[in-house]
Amino acid sequence: MSETIFTKIINKEIPADILYEDDMALAFKDINPQAPVHFLVIPKKPIATVNDIKNEDREIVGHLSLVAAKVANDLGVAEQGFRTVMNCNEFGGQTVYHIHLHVLAGKPLGWPPY
Ligand code: C5P
Repeated sequence: MSETIFTKIINKEIPADILYEDDMALAFKDINPQAPVHFLVIPKKPIATVNDIKNEDREIVGHLSLVAAKVANDLGVAEQGFRTVMNCNEFGGQTVYHIHLHVLAGKPLGWPPY
């Protein structure tokens, strides 16, 4: 797949407010926050969309949720609660084609999301 801006963040070629990093994933604050707390968890492996996740990616993709909960806990928002969202393709509202888990927290969130 072609490189996205998230590859540049992983490679530290452009700055991001990084909250957590390990060999599989990176978490950083969203530059355009939609809630008082809004960060993204991305795999270091570039996977374009949820449709492109393969069986061999199960550990990586599952790991994103573990990182989301850990960072939410570190930020003190886990107990109150948070939302994780992975947008897919045009109707899902995806704009960066490198999968990412949005984590939104810090206020009661509305549902449904429209
Ligand atoms: O789900 P979607 O693809 O629309 O989300 C992309 C997200 O990446 C946006 O919330 C946008 O603010 C964020 N972003 C970022 N840092 C960048 C580019 C995009 O946090 N350099």
